[in-house]
Amino acid sequence: MRPSLFVIGLVLLALSCQPDQPPAEPPQYNVPTDIEPFVQAFRDEARQRGQSVATDNLIIRFGAVSDKDVCGECLLQSNKTPVITLSNDPLCWQQMNAQERECLVFHELGHCVLKRLHKTDRFPNGAFVSLMNLNDVSVYATCRYPIGNDDCDKRPRRSYYIDELFNPNTPAPAWAK
Ligand SMILES: [Zn+2]
Repeated sequence: MRPSLFVIGLVLLALSCQPDQPPAEPPQYNVPTDIEPFVQAFRDEARQRGQSVATDNLIIRFGAVSDKDVCGECLLQSNKTPVITLSNDPLCWQQMNAQERECLVFHELGHCVLKRLHKTDRFPNGAFVSLMNLNDVSVYATCRYPIGNDDCDKRPRRSYYIDELFNPNTPAPAWAK
C-alpha cells in the first residue's frame, strides 16, 4: 500500500502547485423579458454584418450600479459569466425611449460581449464617433421634442453606429462632416 499512497501524495502535491485559477462557471443565460428583444436585435444586427456573437453566457439584471451617474454597467471577470446591470434609477430605463434603450443595451453588450472599451472621439460636426462613448445614449434616438432642434431626428444614423459597434474601422459617414 505505501508505494501507491506515495504516488497519490506526489500527484496531489503537483496539483496544489498549479497557478491559483478558479474553475470556470458553467455558461448561463438570464435576461429579463423587457430586455430580451434588444439582445435579439443585437444578435440580428451582428448576423446581418456576417459576425457571430456569443450571447449564451450572459446575465442582465435591473439593480443598483456602482456609479450613480451611469444607467448601466458591465462586469467582466475571468471565468465568470458577464453581468450587465441596468440602473433602476427612475431617470434611467423608465425615462428612455426605445432607441435610447437599444443604445444603452448595445453599449453594455459592446463591453460585455464584444469586449470593447470606451471611445470618446467626436466627428468634426461634434457627433460622437461611437456608441461606445461615455455620455450619450441618444446618438441616434429620435428626439422627444423635435420642434426647433435641427439635430433631432437622427434615425438615419442608426445603421452607421451599429456598423461601428461591430467594426471600429467603419469609415466616417457623410453626415459627420
Ligand atoms: Zn460604458
